Amino acid sequence: MNKLIPLSVPNLKGNELKYVSKAIEEEWVSTGGAFINAFENQMASYLNVEKAVACQSGTAALHLALILSGVESGEEIIVPTLTFIASVNPVRYVGAEPIFMDCDNSLTMDPYKLEEFCNKKCHMVDGFLINNKSCKKIKALIVVHIFGNMADMESIVKIAKKYNLIVIEDATEALGTYYTEGEFANRHAGTMGDFGAISFNGNKIITTGGGGMLLGNSKDLDRARYLSTQAKKDNIYYIHDDVGYNYRMTNLQAALGVAQLEQLEKFINKKKENYELYKLLISDIPGLEILEFRRGIRPNYWFYSLRINKEIFPMDKDELLQFMNINGIQTRPIWGLINEQKPYEHNQTYKIEKSRKFSEEILNIPCSSNLIKEDIFKVVSVLSSITKENR
Ligand SMILES: *Cc1c(COP(=O)(O)O)cnc(C)c1O
Repeated sequence: MNKLIPLSVPNLKGNELKYVSKAIEEEWVSTGGAFINAFENQMASYLNVEKAVACQSGTAALHLALILSGVESGEEIIVPTLTFIASVNPVRYVGAEPIFMDCDNSLTMDPYKLEEFCNKKCHMVDGFLINNKSCKKIKALIVVHIFGNMADMESIVKIAKKYNLIVIEDATEALGTYYTEGEFANRHAGTMGDFGAISFNGNKIITTGGGGMLLGNSKDLDRARYLSTQAKKDNIYYIHDDVGYNYRMTNLQAALGVAQLEQLEKFINKKKENYELYKLLISDIPGLEILEFRRGIRPNYWFYSLRINKEIFPMDKDELLQFMNINGIQTRPIWGLINEQKPYEHNQTYKIEKSRKFSEEILNIPCSSNLIKEDIFKVVSVLSSITKENR
């Protein structure tokens, strides 16, 4: 009997049940409790960042980052178009508008186009970047570390400094990815900009069911924590000086998180092993390749991107997705471009070329940390059967 090989599923065989049971036995299940602090502290120390604040989701963490950046209604934010839409929606939550940027061959924001846009399509007034077209202030950029790869942070941070842009890193897919060389050696994704967001959604490298964390300096993050708990200034009299949010993570989620974080490096090692096996086997199939990660980094190997060369391979990505599905293998195309989604179809774009090409050519293939060798052999044998049979 054929079992389905899913794209990416949780791996909960460590201390998850033990810690969640403990939270339940102690009846600390809501937004207070020892696991929340432990999870935040252990994460901050793993990432070597000043402070981490646990939230209900990565999206909530990004929303808080934009609020703390002081983004105001009517301002603009540079974002990638090749990403999951949750990178962009929080821009609208604060009343700002996204400007869509292209990617380079790493699938992450193209620093050359970013610089060119700032230089040629904007001007500086009183130290702020103003968009020539809209005459609006561009306050920040959101850079996304797609599929566990690292964006070119050396270039992006330089450009951001030059044009006075706040850098928000969407590291929701890249927990555990860090530079091994260069000026940011040993710095983790999410810790080089002004703010970083990570996610513990069900398909991420570690999961709390749903959840996220905001990363940054202590002063900003103390305020993030306050805003995430309904902006309650006083626990007895309920004094509120700001409009807050119900964004705090629960102790139950954090119990899961602590157990998952214990296994993160083990998951990454397993994913690396599987990635290398896939890469080796697929290099023999004409017209297919597994995308590489940036040099000079230790990626977390979260997702494996299969690139289809339509000139050589007999199927396009949609046909291949169908074919894999029939054979019990779940794959998923990279996202549709955000600037082509209904809420954003009228927003400004800058030279979107590679993002469109990649969105036509890439399928993600099964990558769970509990994938076994036999699963990989099955995926590869289904892929190689296509070339032999169809042409
Ligand atoms: C998962 C993800 C998010 C959102 O995280 P949630 O925890 O699901 O809210 C944001 N951006 C990207 C690129 C993601 O993959």
